[in-house]
Amino acid sequence: MANVVWHKKLRILLDLTRDDLDHPELPDLWDTVYKTDRFYGRLGVPVSERDLQCGGVCRDLGVEAPMHLRMRGGRREAVHERREDEERHIAPMSDEHKAYQERILRAAEEGGFTGDSEVRTRIGRSWIQTDTLVEGADGRRIGWEVQLSTIDESGLRGVRSRAAKAAKNGITPAWHTDRLAYAQRNDTHWTRSDHLPAFVIARTGDLRIVSGFRVLDFWHCDIHALYPCPYGVRRCGKAHATPKPRDVLFDDMVRQTAAGTIVPIQFRAGKTVHRYWVTSADRDRLDDLNSDDTRLPPEREAAQASGASRNRPTCQPAATPITAVTPPSTPALPVLPALSALPLQPSAPAIETAPAAAEQQANITRQATEGVTGLPSELITLQQAADDAHLRLQQLHDHHERQLQRQAWRDAAAAVQSAVTHYARTKRLNRHEVEARLRSLVRHTAR
Ligand SMILES: [Zn+2]
Ligand SMILES: [Zn+2]
Repeated sequence: MANVVWHKKLRILLDLTRDDLDHPELPDLWDTVYKTDRFYGRLGVPVSERDLQCGGVCRDLGVEAPMHLRMRGGRREAVHERREDEERHIAPMSDEHKAYQERILRAAEEGGFTGDSEVRTRIGRSWIQTDTLVEGADGRRIGWEVQLSTIDESGLRGVRSRAAKAAKNGITPAWHTDRLAYAQRNDTHWTRSDHLPAFVIARTGDLRIVSGFRVLDFWHCDIHALYPCPYGVRRCGKAHATPKPRDVLFDDMVRQTAAGTIVPIQFRAGKTVHRYWVTSADRDRLDDLNSDDTRLPPEREAAQASGASRNRPTCQPAATPITAVTPPSTPALPVLPALSALPLQPSAPAIETAPAAAEQQANITRQATEGVTGLPSELITLQQAADDAHLRLQQLHDHHERQLQRQAWRDAAAAVQSAVTHYARTKRLNRHEVEARLRSLVRHTAR
């Protein structure tokens, strides 16, 4: 038995615990659905060919489990046709799982947040079932899903789509496990603790997350650098980021994700999308690093360092860049790999080696043969100033200094952008080409 049924034709979930099946807009819904099902039954239509499926655990796991309806002692019941579907529901939640749920709620409460277990969030005609949902700051919602080694792998069906569905509907998915094989999956931002008995999990003592959280090491690519340049054997003089695994306490993770000071990030390296958690400060620095004049980092609330942020949590920090000045053309350079400094990856194209660069260089050469750069020195000065401001931002560590410098860079970037627009318009030139030529000139000429 289950008390949530999915109606295939109507494409709605029916909640049998409610008189109106949770559809006040459809009067007499139960009578209609029940009579139809009985009618099919009398005709001998197999249950699997009728309209009803399990809308509970089975559907959550992506299993189509046929059901039929019956009345027992005046109660409405939905019955699985197959025994194996029924068994999916009676698998008891392990003590360890319960201990985790309680621990999450306790940690959240100690941090001033609220939460609940087994939460159903209505979205349109269906809903999302969340293991433990923490209501964080500024409407942030963290959906904890605990998958322990006590369950079989069927619990992992559709992780990516379930996580994506949650994220799309404003719930930041936070999947936790005690099994190494699960933690190594890249389908969501897994965190892992060691395999521990329930009484240890339930205790108030330290419970560590041993994988899934990283600190980003920001470094400058010069002769003093500890890491090799991700772009090649030489030193490029740019700033890079290298992620390093770091343990974090489970309770801190619960509270800081709710506060928005620990956030999920993802980036593509080769064919793999890596997903893990970092501090919001690291995420901001990474955004700064990966930004360009035309793709400025997202505006952040000044108060974010203390935990509050009005920004919605996001898995794709660079997905919605705010541009201070919107250029009418496409960005001049190909999108940089989000975290090109990841070690052991094939070297990603740096700005200098971008495919368009050769062409730009050719343009410059043509310009040079005309005797001049073809660009007013005012533009060159402004671009140099913007690039210098961006470089300085990469070298700062202090949060407040970074905020000031980020603004300085924004201003400098806006200045060069509007100057380029003005120049191109006045000279009736393609703005995109002017910008590309300018950058190529400034960034490829030794100063
Ligand atoms: Zn079911
Ligand atoms: Zn480098």
